[in-house]
Amino acid sequence: MKTKKMLGLAAIVAVIALVVSCSMLSGLGGGNKPCDPDKHQFTKNGSKKYLFDQTHHWETCFKCKAANTSSRAAHSGNPCRVCGYDSRPPSGGGGGYSER
Ligand SMILES: [Zn+2]
Ligand SMILES: [Zn+2]
Repeated sequence: MKTKKMLGLAAIVAVIALVVSCSMLSGLGGGNKPCDPDKHQFTKNGSKKYLFDQTHHWETCFKCKAANTSSRAAHSGNPCRVCGYDSRPPSGGGGGYSER
């Protein structure tokens, strides 16, 4: 009796392990591999992908998400005309702000 139960449990564990390892494998194959340094794709369909922090933005590789450090620059405008970063506090229902 007991062995049958154990077998069922083992089967479930095996299935879970298989699913997890499969999803991990597909995750690795999904484009997270780092490119060669000269193969980064910083432009796609004429547009660029930016990451940013509070003061700067920089181009990001579409394939491996590596940062193009030479593109790092301070924001230009608020919201930034390049990456769209907006450092203003979100208007939380404060009326009259949008009316000019
Ligand atoms: Zn890359
Ligand atoms: Zn910016």
